[in-house]
Amino acid sequence: MDKQQEFVLRTLEERDIRFVRLWFTDVLGFLKSVAVAPAELEQAFDEGIGFDGSAIEGFARVYESDMIAKPDPATFQVLPWRAEAPGTARMFCDILMPDRSPSFADPRYVLKRALAKTSDLGFTFYTHPEIEFFLLKDKPVDGSRPTPADSSGYFDHTPQNVGMDFRRQAITMLESMGISVEFSHHEGAPGQQEIDLRYADALSTADNIMTFRLIMKQVALEQGVQATFMPKPFSEYPGSGMHTHLSLFEGDRNAFYESGAEYQLSKVGRSFIAGLLRHAAEVSAVTNQWVNSYKRIWGGAERPAGAGGEAPSYICWGHNNRSALIRVPMYKPGKTGSARVEVRSLDSGCNPYLSYALLLAAGLKGIEENYELGPGADDDVWALTDAERRAMGIEPLPQNLGEAISLMEHSELVAETLGEHVFGFFLRNKKQEWEEYRSEVTAFELRKSLPVL
Ligand code: GLU
Ligand code: MG
Ligand code: MG
Repeated sequence: MDKQQEFVLRTLEERDIRFVRLWFTDVLGFLKSVAVAPAELEQAFDEGIGFDGSAIEGFARVYESDMIAKPDPATFQVLPWRAEAPGTARMFCDILMPDRSPSFADPRYVLKRALAKTSDLGFTFYTHPEIEFFLLKDKPVDGSRPTPADSSGYFDHTPQNVGMDFRRQAITMLESMGISVEFSHHEGAPGQQEIDLRYADALSTADNIMTFRLIMKQVALEQGVQATFMPKPFSEYPGSGMHTHLSLFEGDRNAFYESGAEYQLSKVGRSFIAGLLRHAAEVSAVTNQWVNSYKRIWGGAERPAGAGGEAPSYICWGHNNRSALIRVPMYKPGKTGSARVEVRSLDSGCNPYLSYALLLAAGLKGIEENYELGPGADDDVWALTDAERRAMGIEPLPQNLGEAISLMEHSELVAETLGEHVFGFFLRNKKQEWEEYRSEVTAFELRKSLPVL
């Protein structure tokens, strides 16, 4: 038994923890959990815990359904909302096949594979997400319009604002689970919040995002409201993005930084961005995986003022340009040696493991194949006409899930990074969602056509 495992067993005893939840994530990014008694844990560390993988979205076919969840002791944390004795703790798991090989259906393993490739190239990958979400009075079950929990706006700081108490409690819980928060504020739409996590290696960040979503829902319930990570719950307000800042390190040197270069951005940084841009459309079905995701990033001229809320619609990069898909944030004078790129397409409903694996693969491809980065866009790209954008070589992101799926289907990069199993399952699942949507007669059509036809 190693030191971390011993630490876990000792803590269980010292803190009178009676339940240990083993967590993992399905292919669509939903958290799964099985509770074990502490007495079982020693065995779980050695052999893992068996479960029926065929019952989990995307995990296994029925005839090969026995799978194993093996807890990662480095992720052990006591759940703060179950902290009083007897308490509850959690660990993230790696999923294994019955022959103990890693499961190709485990999103954590998809990211681990991409990270192993990164370290073969001599890099480590850091991420820092800005997570937006809505607090609602309640979550309607009948598909009717939800009601935001408050009526504040960007950076508003008002007493009796649900968000303020909410953020305070939520951040205390995050920090008590070892998740550091850098910023938090009310976002642009009524009920909309943003909490930014401190940068960490990509695997920890993805684990942290899964924990984050659960904590937000938990605290919301405690405060009599509902948290949702749906990308675009309201037509007239901005949606919820999960912009993520990315950087590569070589040892303790930031590989994106070059003193004196344009925006202090090294050749490695430029090729990484070029990779992100070239593959942006084909990874979109994963970074923006729901029918609803495309309502957030839609950039048509008919978009009501304020409704876009700085979600990107076009594939371009810019320096400090919030209409661009990729933004190179302003260089902070006091922070010599630091450079990062912000990807703004991801939404809060994505699977963070798969999304980060794909962004990483796209960026690394740019480095390996020496992609050239074209000129950045300085203009507000939403304000340009289609013809102007075309003349500048700026393409739109996929317009809907159907288009995104078709692009993904032909992508070698996505197939290779996700692996055959996840790639196949994901496509089947998303095609089904798209077909269901296409075949449904919506409230829009009934409103628009029924009265006049
Ligand atoms: N809510 C916007 C989005 O969907 C982002 C606003 C911001 O720049 O933080 O991407
Ligand atoms: Mg924001
Ligand atoms: Mg941002």
